[in-house]
Amino acid sequence: HFPALVAEEAGDTVRLGIQELRLQDLPAHEVTIRVAYSSVNYKDGLASIKEGRVVRAYPIVPGIDLAGTVTASDTPAVKPGTKVLVTGYELGVSQHGGYAAYARVPADWVIPLPDGLSLRDAMLLGTAGFTAALSVHRLQENGVRPEQGPILVTGASGGVGSVAMAILAKAGYQVVASTGKEAAHDVLRALGATEVVSREAVLTDGSKPLERQRWAGAVDTVGGRTLSSILRNLRYGGSVAACGLTGGPQLDATVFPFILRGVNLLGIDSVYAPRDVRLTLWERLAKPWKVTDRLARAMTVVDLDALPEVLASILRGEVTGRVVVRVAP
Ligand code: NAP
Repeated sequence: HFPALVAEEAGDTVRLGIQELRLQDLPAHEVTIRVAYSSVNYKDGLASIKEGRVVRAYPIVPGIDLAGTVTASDTPAVKPGTKVLVTGYELGVSQHGGYAAYARVPADWVIPLPDGLSLRDAMLLGTAGFTAALSVHRLQENGVRPEQGPILVTGASGGVGSVAMAILAKAGYQVVASTGKEAAHDVLRALGATEVVSREAVLTDGSKPLERQRWAGAVDTVGGRTLSSILRNLRYGGSVAACGLTGGPQLDATVFPFILRGVNLLGIDSVYAPRDVRLTLWERLAKPWKVTDRLARAMTVVDLDALPEVLASILRGEVTGRVVVRVAP
């Protein structure tokens, strides 16, 4: 038996509690992993409520990320004793995830822990870190360079936002952080922001299709009015990496920023990102973009039993930085 946080349906709601599971409760896949650490992402919050609509069927062990050691494997490609990480795919949404001492996953989901990162570092990054790395990578692929001007990061105090800021700062970009948290300004500067502004300071009123050219690029975790404002404020040829929806899924836009300023709206998906991209970006996160020391300043470490409270607070937008879950280190 091993401990797991299980989310179960209880009438119209979802109830979270620690239960004892057995290895035979896990899905039949090739690789069994003893989970050292997991993490808390916004999507884990969504998995803990019915209205979140990310879980296919309850009961389920949430946790879209995990890092640990392989204990059994049906394939020579993944050897027992190897330290590995898994993020995304069906983990924690349609099959048991990282909030349990063991997990079993298909071999092609498994990424070897890159040299230079500990298992805890891997979860300090987690899906948020990978998504941030993918966002910066896509901005760079589209020609956004440090000398072109400031990069806006929205939802800056959140997981994706805080890692994106740290990577951008490390890569030499000037970063403007937008946040709703007055109390987080100093932390955001420590993470790499050169300037911190309010959520409202990046909104335009929407009456004009084009506004002042402010941002050379942006990593947007908020969506909604924030993303439509960014499109109107991008500099000529600039790009925005759209990765989130904490401010809403709607996008109200015209074609003018695209046809008059040549801007790019880049879609970011971490869940089904191809394996070669994962391998490349995890290597980068372990070496040139290693920001875990900086991120550790805004890290909270919790045990499984604290998760109900933490999952509720991430849904309220109250978490600053990354939350690492100590499962069975
Ligand atoms: P998080 O840690 O909760 O960060 C989200 C941040 O958004 C909050 O800390 C808050 O930052 C801001 N925010 C919250 N509510 C808001 C509102 N009503 N209006 C404006 N800003 C608000 O979550 P996360 O795990 O970093 O995820 C961020 C977003 O990215 C989520 O929508 C998530 O679903 C998405 N995501 C997408 C992918 C992908 O593959 N595309 C991967 C990971 C995450 P401030 O207080 O600093 O403003």
